[in-house]
Amino acid sequence: METIKVYAAIIGGGASGLMCACVASKRHKDKKIVVVERDNRVGKKILVSGNSRCNLTNLSATHENYHSSFESGVNFLLENYPPNKVLDYFYSIGLLTMADSDSRVYPLSRQASAVLSVLRNELKRNNVQEICDTTVKSISKSGDCYKLHCNDKTIIAQKVVIATGGKNNYAQKVVGNSYEAAMSIGHKITELTPTLSPVKVDSKVIKSLKGIRAQGKVTAVVNSKKVKSELGEIQFGVDCLSGICVFNLSRIINREKNAKVIVQLLPDYSFEEIKDMLYHRIKLTKNDSVQELFTGLFHKNIGIALLKCSGIDTSKTADKLTKAEILALADTINRWSFDTIMSKDFSNAQVTAGGVSGSEINPVTFESKKAKNIYLCGEAIDVDGDCGGFNLQFAFSSGMCVGEQL
Ligand SMILES: Cc1cc2nc3c(=O)[nH]c(=O)nc-3n(C[C@H](O)[C@H](O)[C@H](O)COP(=O)(O)OP(=O)(O)OC[C@H]3O[C@@H](n4cnc5c(N)ncnc54)[C@H](O)[C@@H]3O)c2cc1C
Repeated sequence: METIKVYAAIIGGGASGLMCACVASKRHKDKKIVVVERDNRVGKKILVSGNSRCNLTNLSATHENYHSSFESGVNFLLENYPPNKVLDYFYSIGLLTMADSDSRVYPLSRQASAVLSVLRNELKRNNVQEICDTTVKSISKSGDCYKLHCNDKTIIAQKVVIATGGKNNYAQKVVGNSYEAAMSIGHKITELTPTLSPVKVDSKVIKSLKGIRAQGKVTAVVNSKKVKSELGEIQFGVDCLSGICVFNLSRIINREKNAKVIVQLLPDYSFEEIKDMLYHRIKLTKNDSVQELFTGLFHKNIGIALLKCSGIDTSKTADKLTKAEILALADTINRWSFDTIMSKDFSNAQVTAGGVSGSEINPVTFESKKAKNIYLCGEAIDVDGDCGGFNLQFAFSSGMCVGEQL
């Protein structure tokens, strides 16, 4: 079996690992640094991020955008490696960017491939070797160095970075246990949950809404308590609700057995206003089908689904609606309740909530408290961010931080 000796080995060629390798190699041009990637090429997730436009950071990132057992580490990065510092670095290696009205930053070219290319070009300039199709199974101590046991080779390194990402392997060919390397040096992994994913719902009407989008407010309710609300575009899938606002509720829903999502299609209207509006529309619709009540208001199929969920016969005419039916309909429009199905399906999740426990990592150097000269960065750590560039911000900033430690 081949043995390679290096100064530093970075396990994982994703956003955090590539950034780390770029920063470290600039400081140590004379030393051999390698990126070890189990897939057949590095950076596949960067290419699919932000609908292939890569929302690489968010200028308004604060600790409130993150959920983790590593608050001190998150705060340290936000203070010392804020979005502008990440962007300055990208500018220095050739990437121009632009921010949208929600502070989300994208490459000026709107191409995720631009982000990956500037990182890989910098690695090439600094002679970093990418070793692909190579999975690190475990790490063991070997004198002053570490031995990385891979499928077909052994790598001996003075410094090691674990940048192996989360459990979700969206768009990646090789699926495996991303936590093996960290666990082999004694790290504990907190509960893993798919997040920034669609939310599966138990509903008889959902299928008829497939492909429809509507503006509104969504609220996660657990054991009758409102936990979190988001405004935005709700996308209806064949068995799920989706869209950025729903993604931001998914880490809560996917951890709870008894969760509901309440959809408010008219969040700016009170129940009374919706009821009055229905009475007005009934006068307009008269003896036409009750389905016409929603013309000019909602998509036709949403109207039919609202009627069904309110227990109303969709074939009756508007003037035949009873008072109780009108109240039930106003209530459904005001707070349409969907029972959810807890999901452990990582295949459609953008991010993994959970990972290496923050208590086992130095919050300033990101060095493992289990093993000297081994560092961690990116999604492998128990940190997940909201949708909107916050996860890549964490990956890039933690990669920069670790790159400066090597
Ligand atoms: C479809 C999609 C869209 C997204 N869009 C955005 C967005 O627009 N903005 C945003 O902020 N975030 C976005 N995210 C999330 C973001 O991409 C991730 O949070 C980020 O890429 C994490 O970077 P990472 O380096 O920690 O992990 P990854 O990018 O997952 O990289 C880890 C790498 O390590 C490799 N690896 C794992 N185990 C081993 C091993 N044992 N040996 C060798 N290699 C190993 C993996 O193959 C992988 O290439 C998106 C995610 C997805 C899936």
